[in-house]
Amino acid sequence: MDYKKYISVVDDFPLKGIRFKDITTLMQDGEAYAKAVDDIADYAKDLNIDVIVGPEARGFIVGCPVAYKLGLGFVPVRKDGKLPREVVKVSYGLEYGKDVLTMHKDSIKPGQRVLITDDLLATGGTIGATIQLVEELGGVVAGIAFMIELTYLDGREKLSGYDIFTLTQY
Ligand code: 5GP
Repeated sequence: MDYKKYISVVDDFPLKGIRFKDITTLMQDGEAYAKAVDDIADYAKDLNIDVIVGPEARGFIVGCPVAYKLGLGFVPVRKDGKLPREVVKVSYGLEYGKDVLTMHKDSIKPGQRVLITDDLLATGGTIGATIQLVEELGGVVAGIAFMIELTYLDGREKLSGYDIFTLTQY
């Protein structure tokens, strides 16, 4: 599928100079969203995944339907102060700003094989931080899937050594 036909590119959002890739136009098309989920599930099905992990909020949009399709659980990665029980935390930098991500301490069991999902790979900061959390809990990152990769930001290099799958590239 030509996913780019369904993704909107918005100039100067959320800051001047950023060309934001908006996946809401892909999500609102049932056929395109289903194909995106199916393609990521196809990628993951031979990786022997135990659980899917995704950062808020768009990592949920990608990871939850894939988890349902593969009959797996989904673990949310959330900003600081959002999860109610004991958490592990990591501080990270992103394309525009800095933040803290957290996961529940008991959400991954040591040795579990994890698929990480998000909508878009830019610098790799968000997923680098997510990997740190998963590995701190003893999880094994078996694969990472995105709808979109911004190849000019070299996120793939930052995440070298990990298996990365993307539906479309800019
Ligand atoms: P990174 O941490 O790889 O630099 O940035 C990726 C994160 O920022 C993802 O969680 C993604 O949702 C968000 N992000 C950055 N730029 C864009 C964009 O152009 N479009 C969308 N949809 N998300 C973006």
